[in-house]
Amino acid sequence: MSSQLELRQVSVHYGGFAAVSDVSLTLERGQIGCLLGPSGCGKTTLLRAIAGFQAISSGGIFLRGEAISTPQRQLPPEQRKVGMVFQDFALFPHLNVRHNIGFGLAHLSRAERRRRVDEMLRLVALGDCAGAWPHELSGGQQQRVALARALAPSPAILLLDEPFSSLDSELRTQLAAEVRELLTRNGVTAILVTHDQHEAFAMADSIALLQHGRVAQSDTPYNLYHNPGNEFVAEFIGQGSMISVTVNAAGELNDGLGIIDRGHPHWQPGETLRLLVRPDDIEYEDGSEVQLKVVSKAFRGASYFYELLLPDGQHVPCLTPSHVDIPRGGLLPVRFNLQHVVVFERSNGAGQT
Ligand code: ATP
Repeated sequence: MSSQLELRQVSVHYGGFAAVSDVSLTLERGQIGCLLGPSGCGKTTLLRAIAGFQAISSGGIFLRGEAISTPQRQLPPEQRKVGMVFQDFALFPHLNVRHNIGFGLAHLSRAERRRRVDEMLRLVALGDCAGAWPHELSGGQQQRVALARALAPSPAILLLDEPFSSLDSELRTQLAAEVRELLTRNGVTAILVTHDQHEAFAMADSIALLQHGRVAQSDTPYNLYHNPGNEFVAEFIGQGSMISVTVNAAGELNDGLGIIDRGHPHWQPGETLRLLVRPDDIEYEDGSEVQLKVVSKAFRGASYFYELLLPDGQHVPCLTPSHVDIPRGGLLPVRFNLQHVVVFERSNGAGQT
């Protein structure tokens, strides 16, 4: 059986500039994928290539096994069975909710169209708003109309282009979780484009993190966070500090603080390794002998986010309950909990835990 969507070594060039290089991805039916990455990494270009608005320079894009884009042949967007939800929702202001949702259903009879629109209104729980105008709806409701309109023609894949970015941050994560629930319940295959990792985590089964048009790592949200394949992934995903630690004469990492204390057959005495330290790798422990100076702190409601100073001058993060309130310059007693810490060797840049 073919995958619902397959990108095979896709590259896109703008003149001499490679905006996307050699990207391969697959998405199975009912899965939600995400293209994540910093501004300019090629997310929108890839999405436009899947939608058929952008020609590809090499490789191929396949929908349910059918080639929809190759350098030689481009199926026009309207023949692709692709639905799109845009950043600004792009609802037609002069059409009410019912007519917005029914917009792409001109090929159906009146009765069939009405039935399908009613089904979509129920799907996005907007049955009471069928006659409302877009400007009368909240941002979240407009978003659901846009979703219903894109899903009405039963696309083979739904493309979501930063669909929550115009909403405030609390509503954004809540809506992302709601949309995920709605899509998975209905077996919809979708790709989300975003630069916001929280949105990506809330929605996607798998995430392709892009850097300069290439896939830096394509993985589950869990693996991107806990098993980053290189330093770019480690620094982009989640919070944390990269610190340098030197291997001692016995071939072990031991900085005397118990940050990490173990050997590895590949490690050479004197070699400097890079460690990714996450805020959850260092815990507050009342009475601990290890006490680190507080460089800065940020109140987060349920927690404090501390930046702590190691004796060698490097900084590490630490998350504590917010009743642990140590002033800047004070000492925070901590315990290191680094059995899962990721170590990057300079020689190959690869991560290992
Ligand atoms: P953002 O999050 O800012 O939207 P993005 O990851 O979606 O960024 P793209 O819009 O795909 O990135 O752009 C990728 C690269 O290609 C960028 O360097 C951009 O400047 C360049 N680019 C995009 N469109 C064109 C174009 N029509 N002509 C030339 N270069 C372009």
